[in-house]
Order: sequence, then structure tokens, then C-alpha cells
Amino acid sequence: MVDVLVIGGGNAALCAALTAREAGATVLLLEASPRAWRGGNTQHTRNLRCMHDAPQDVLVDAYPEEEFWQDLLKVTGGQTDEALARLVIRASSTVRPWMRRHGVHFQPSLSGALHTARTNAFFMGGGKALVNAYYRSAETLGVQLRYEAPVSRIELDGDRFVAAWVGDERIAARSCVLAAGGFESNREWLRQAWGRNERGEYPSDQFLIRGTRFNTGVLLRFMLDAGADAIGDPTQAHMVAIDARAPLYDGGICTRIDCVSLGVVVNRDGERFYDEGEDFWPKRYAIWGRLVAQQPGQTAWSIIDAKAVGRFMPPVFPGTHAHSLPELARALGLPEQRLLGTLQDYNAACRPGSFDHTRLDDCRTEGLSPVKSHWALPIDKPPFTAYALRPGVTFTYLGLRTDETAAVRFGGRPSPNLFVAGEMMAGNVLGRGYTAGVGMSIGTAFGRIAGQRAAWSVQGEARHAAA
Ligand SMILES: Cc1cc2nc3c(=O)[nH]c(=O)nc-3n(C[C@H](O)[C@H](O)[C@H](O)COP(=O)(O)OP(=O)(O)OC[C@H]3O[C@@H](n4cnc5c(N)ncnc54)[C@H](O)[C@@H]3O)c2cc1C
Repeated sequence: MVDVLVIGGGNAALCAALTAREAGATVLLLEASPRAWRGGNTQHTRNLRCMHDAPQDVLVDAYPEEEFWQDLLKVTGGQTDEALARLVIRASSTVRPWMRRHGVHFQPSLSGALHTARTNAFFMGGGKALVNAYYRSAETLGVQLRYEAPVSRIELDGDRFVAAWVGDERIAARSCVLAAGGFESNREWLRQAWGRNERGEYPSDQFLIRGTRFNTGVLLRFMLDAGADAIGDPTQAHMVAIDARAPLYDGGICTRIDCVSLGVVVNRDGERFYDEGEDFWPKRYAIWGRLVAQQPGQTAWSIIDAKAVGRFMPPVFPGTHAHSLPELARALGLPEQRLLGTLQDYNAACRPGSFDHTRLDDCRTEGLSPVKSHWALPIDKPPFTAYALRPGVTFTYLGLRTDETAAVRFGGRPSPNLFVAGEMMAGNVLGRGYTAGVGMSIGTAFGRIAGQRAAWSVQGEARHAAA
């Protein structure tokens, strides 16, 4: 029988498997996907948020613990466990040498990724390269790997893990780490969580999933039904407005539309519905998925003119172009008079100022609702371009409650041999909101803790048996 069974195949699972193996345990990792799709959402990531008190290789200046904590406190609105959050923050300051030992390389922030040179270390080759490096290291260290091995249920004896089931196969182990992601790819569960709106629509039916199709939440549901303590709200998730033509799964980062703050966004009635220039885009992009989800048909259009071109990362698919606004309205199939009225009102409300996209400038609207607070320039220079938007779910926050040992808890009692890491417990730190790169900080810190504790739980038992 293997010592540590790791369920999942993304960052948290790999960190757990590597750490348990380093601690001397025998390890088997079960990944639901085929080998080509291994790595879950982690394969789409780019960076890790890191605390540091002075410049560190690819990170400039300093990003002290207190500032990281305040950032987290602000984005979550206080829905976070301070002890666990600080544990993640501190771990992020020391983990990179360990990651390097397992083949991960870092590079400085790219110039298009605003404001991250100080706070985020980027993976050379992105998350895919990180995943490949960790799998290579796991194989070298003798971790057993199985693909196309979706676990459907686990066997418990009270609060103790006994075995996992893959189809009809029973896999027993002395301890286990659950790292099987959120439930963002489970359409039925999303429908249940989001329900029906006042227009009779099921908003989640229009959601696109930015990451893997394999995070169906089967184990999360199983554990909640088995009485494990839960954390988080099922409707809370990281949600971005993405290109409406993105694939249903695995569109990744290149489907994001980053010109929202340079123009206006209208719904299918041709109306604006939110301040496009409220704050810097990296601080606001993650609220736009939810904003679009609240619009009729869960769709919207980001409209810019020629002045915006060259000022944002171009999306992967070309936009709809037109030489006049009526032509644009017709090409988009939007009510022409309503859209023209919205744009005329907006253009008339733009106050002259000094446009500067690198700061919160003084170009804003006056007497318009909703206001556009910054970067408000009239949309008047052809050609005009529009991108249709839909909500893109990155990951869900409902998970299993845990503590600083990463143990799964039942009625407040920690399990002696069942642990959890990554998206399956990220809700302990992220009750809502998001700050870029913290998903990987949480998964790396808790993956390593879970792997260590799983190995110790086996070794403690062995010592106990020998005594
Ligand atoms: C497009 C995109 C970009 C992102 N960019 C960043 C970024 O730059 N920085 C950052 O910090 N975060 C980013 N995130 C969030 C980040 O991906 C997650 O926080 C992190 O990868 C979670 O790791 P994880 O191991 O918990 O989950 P995942 O990496 O999703 O892994 C879950 C694994 O579990 C497997 N699995 C699921 N169910 C089962 C089952 N029943 N049995 C066996 N295996 C199962 C899946 O196949 C998958 O391998 C991004 C996410 C997306 C979608």
C-alpha cells in the first residue's frame, strides 16, 4: 500500500507529491485528465505573488508582509483567515529556491503586465513549463503517476481516509491529499449556485470556463456530503470578461479583453452599466465577469475608437470594425438609435483633461450616469472597433475548511490523515475578490504543508506501531 495518495494533477497536487516524497514517503498521484491536458488550471498561469523585504532576483523594490496582507484584506473585504493568510504570505517569501530545485525558472514581469514587477514573479514558459518541470521532477524522485484516473468517491472511517475509488478500482493508502480544484467546470452545480434571474434566464448557462474542463468538483461535493466542514460561498469566483468567441474550456489568458478602460461598455440594449475607468485595469478586470453576468443575455460589448489602438494588449481574435457608429451598431446587431444615443451622451459628457493611461488621470465625464472616472475620451475617431464579451470563470471559492496543518475538518475536528490544498481550500484565504498571483501562492504553500503533514502522519503511525 502506498503511503501518500495525492488526488489532482495541478500545482497544489504536485507541490504535495514532491514534498511528501522528499519527506521519505511513497507517493501515488492520480490525475483525472489525459497526459496531454495534465496540470489543471495551473497550466494557464503566469506568476506567483511573493512577499520580499528587499529586491530579489526578478522582483524589484520590496513587498513587505504587511502590504501583502493589507492588499488581501482590501480585496476580500475582510473575508479571510488572517493566520492562514499570513502563513501563505510568509511561505511566498522563501519558496522560490525550492521551486527552482524542481526545475521552475523565473523571469521579470513583462512590460504589458502593469504594476506587477514588484509583486509577482513570472514563470519562464508560463504555467505549462512549471507543470512540466514538476512532473519531470516527480518522475525522477519516484512518484508514481497515473493519468485518466478520475476519483469518484473516497472511503472514510469516521474522519480517517481509507481508500479512493477510480471507477471500480479501490486504491488504499495510509494518508491522502485532496487537490482536485474547484467546481467551475460543473455546469449543473454552477446553475444551482447562480439560479434563475428576474428575466427567467439561468445566467451561468452563458459562462465560459477559462481553465480546465476536469475541475468538476466531484470530490468537493462528495466531501461536503460526507460532513467535511465547508468554507465560502458557491457564487463567489474569480470572473473575468472575456471574448465571447472564446472556447467553452481552456481559452486561458489570451481571450481576455483589455480595452475596457479605454472606451465604453454597453449591454444588448445599447446602454452603459458601469464606470469603465473606475481604477487601474489590473485592479478591476476581475469584477467585469460578474458585471457582464448581470446584464441581459449575459453579454456586453467593449467599444473603442482609433485613439485606443496600441494602448492595450491586442486580443487574440480581431474585433468588429466599422467606419461610422451607425455602421458599427448594425454590424453588432445592437439597437441603432439607443446605441447612438448612449455614445452621443457619453461623448458630450467627456471633460477635457490630460489623458494618461499610466495614472488615474483627470479625463472624466460630468453629469453622466454611470460616470466614467478616468481615461474618458470621446469615441469619435474612426475606425471604430468592438469586442463582444461574456463572463469567463477562472475558479470557484467554495471549498473545505482547514487550519495551519491543511487537515480536512469534520465538525471542527481535524482528520489525522486527510489533507487539502489549492483551489479546494483557497476560500479559507479568499472569501471573495482576488489579487493577481495569490492563487499560486496559496496552492504552493498549502500543497507543501499538506504533503509534509501527510508524510508525517504515516511516519508517526509507523513509529507508533513499532513502539
Ligand atoms: C486562465 C487562468 C490564468 C490564471 N493565472 C494565474 C496566475 O498567473 N497566477 C495565479 O496565482 N493564479 C492564476 N490562476 C489561478 C490558478 O490556476 C489556480 O489558483 C491554481 O492553479 C490552482 O491550483 P490547483 O492545483 O488547486 O488546481 P488545478 O491546477 O486546477 O488542478 C486541479 C487538478 O485536479 C484534477 N482533478 C479534478 N477532479 C479530479 C478527480 N475527481 N480525480 C482526480 N483528479 C482530479 C484536474 O484534472 C487538475 O489536474 C489562473 C487560472 C486560469 C484559469
